[in-house]
Amino acid sequence: MEQELKKIQTHAREAIRNTADIDLLEQIRVKYVGRKGALTAILRRLKDLPLDGRKKIGDEANRLAQEIERLISEKHRELDATARETILQKERLDVTRPGARAERGHMHPVTKMLAEIERIFHSMGFETTDGPEVETDFYNFQALNMPPGHPARSMWDTFWLRQDEKQKTKDERNRLLLRTHISPVQVRYMETHNPPIRIIVPGRSYRYEATDASHDFQFEYIEGLVVDKNISVANFKAIMIDFFSRLFKKQVTVRLRPSYFPFTEPSFEIDVSCAICNGKGCSMCKRTGWLELAGAGMVHPNVFKAAGYNPKNVQGFAFGIGFSRLVSMRYNIPDIRLLNSGDLRFLKQF
Ligand SMILES: [Zn+2]
Repeated sequence: MEQELKKIQTHAREAIRNTADIDLLEQIRVKYVGRKGALTAILRRLKDLPLDGRKKIGDEANRLAQEIERLISEKHRELDATARETILQKERLDVTRPGARAERGHMHPVTKMLAEIERIFHSMGFETTDGPEVETDFYNFQALNMPPGHPARSMWDTFWLRQDEKQKTKDERNRLLLRTHISPVQVRYMETHNPPIRIIVPGRSYRYEATDASHDFQFEYIEGLVVDKNISVANFKAIMIDFFSRLFKKQVTVRLRPSYFPFTEPSFEIDVSCAICNGKGCSMCKRTGWLELAGAGMVHPNVFKAAGYNPKNVQGFAFGIGFSRLVSMRYNIPDIRLLNSGDLRFLKQF
């Protein structure tokens, strides 16, 4: 029995020393000094021993039981302290440490380009204005010389807005849609201002179309309108040459090609000599030496009429520049959908 006690002592000491877990300590307690523990079993067998041996072994067993209890509670305290230490370590707050720097934002490449475009036009006496993105059929089409059924409407397939019964009107003029171009603002502006007019209107317009690397259903556009008594195509061309030369920071040539828009007559496409290859031909200008950058024309008399002007007294031109295109050219962005993606990996490059 004495030998059994020795063995229990060795094993218990070792087990306690090697434990790193408070729950395991409790198991050790049960194993040695619990109701069915090894030591308890020995104490139960004492009654079978002769009297003197009973006392000696009994004393030793009791001492050992106390030792095990003591070692366990010591270890328990030790493990507790370590655990507290770990928590403290984790939650330690060094008030002298420099703070985490807040991330600073910067302007979106489209915003930057727009600011630059506006600066140039403002220096030429234009002012910036804007208008609603949800438009009525009247402002988006009819006032711009596209009455219901006009074939040109199919060039501007659009998003119509669902209207509830109360808002529904018999009058086609008031049907709501996402504007397909920014020109409605020209009419709104002319309704409330008298010539001379020199405005630019930056904004977003929408088309119902499938997206790909060079088409998005939403795009950034800037339109301009100049109205006065004697405004000619020559005035327009001079402004375009000046504008694009300043934007590209080199002298460019501008070419007008006949085109068609319902709200201008005559209408042109505006080609600018490629600023990258100086007109020699490169991948950006598809080897032509020219970049097609804007559409324009002399304001149609019917548009003046819709806005309440007498077309006999005024003349003017309007133009539209898609500047998502200018942005992707400047920064060499292969897919214009990235511009509206909000993807930080993309935006952080600018
Ligand atoms: Zn080129």
